[in-house]
Amino acid sequence: MTTLRSGTSRKVSLLSSNGAPLLASVAVPMQKNEKEQVKGWLEAMQSSSPPRSLSGIDDEKNGISIKKLTKDQYEKWVVKHPSALHMFETIYKQARGKQIAVFLDYDGTLSPIVEDPDCAYMSNEMRTTVKEVAANFPTAIITGRRRDKVYEFVHLPELYYAGSHGMDIMGPAKGCNGYKADGLQAKDSKGNEVVLFQPASEYLSLMDEVCSILKERSKKFPGARVDHNKYCATLHFRCVSEEDWLALAQEVQTLLKAYPELTLTQGRKVLELRPAIEWHKGKALEFLIEALGLSDPSKVFPIYIGDDRTDEDAFQTLKKLGFSCSILVSTVSKDTCAAYSLQDPFEVMEFLQRLIRMKGSQKIYMCNQGSIL
Ligand SMILES: [Mg+2]
Repeated sequence: MTTLRSGTSRKVSLLSSNGAPLLASVAVPMQKNEKEQVKGWLEAMQSSSPPRSLSGIDDEKNGISIKKLTKDQYEKWVVKHPSALHMFETIYKQARGKQIAVFLDYDGTLSPIVEDPDCAYMSNEMRTTVKEVAANFPTAIITGRRRDKVYEFVHLPELYYAGSHGMDIMGPAKGCNGYKADGLQAKDSKGNEVVLFQPASEYLSLMDEVCSILKERSKKFPGARVDHNKYCATLHFRCVSEEDWLALAQEVQTLLKAYPELTLTQGRKVLELRPAIEWHKGKALEFLIEALGLSDPSKVFPIYIGDDRTDEDAFQTLKKLGFSCSILVSTVSKDTCAAYSLQDPFEVMEFLQRLIRMKGSQKIYMCNQGSIL
């Protein structure tokens, strides 16, 4: 039986005696500091989501237009994090003579953010673009989603995929663009040879249990949705009334206390529970760079594009590496370690297409010079 301690004297069971999740939530009054913790999570979650005022509603508060305020803040912010399209020549000059490697988040980066996460499709034009990127550079998708789910959306077998915030990495056994990763040799569901790396595999049954409890607990909140992202339980707030957010987040807090093996992260209208191991998108990026033999900074130029707080770990990893290009996808000002910005997946596609064109023109130049790239 799993139990939790709330405060110093209360003890509440989360599982019934036969191990099944309890269907009803146990009402435990929140202590003041517990409430502040939950509020902090929600504030962090909101700060990583664009405000509604940008979606057409120009709220007026004390005579100040929130839309205008947000726009003014963005204009100041973008000076510090300039558009990667405007800075393309500079970025490409830094990359000249080096092997470019491309690492991409999925939601909000390759696909638009939508209310139903099952409908976050990427366009055919984006798929064609990513395919061409992979034909020119070693390429990986690093996402919070389940690896198999993101593969359903992207459907390009030539890429590396790091699902569950990098805790579930798989790539083609023959490698990507000539770069082959070391790892456990395995077969995918279609019998194809693949390489696998799963640093949190011992947490799989625990995550099944936690997702099951969280699904039951969130049922009483209309619009709440839990995705079992294999090594990560993702609770979506996007379609939940803001009046319910505090109580819903309290359910997460209750679970977190019951399972000290887990940790919490915030994203765009989501709270996520995952194994409290020293592993995240930044570690997955490091792993892939190392495994693909791309760790010599004098020869390699990694590019990472992402839109969320969980991508900050990858931006920090690149900052430590030195020569690299980190790009945050955002229409609003945000605290970020990323050097550059792009506004939306359309701009991401344009940036990737320019990379491909630049590589093509470099090939022609090198052939004219009598060299083989
Ligand atoms: Mg994202």
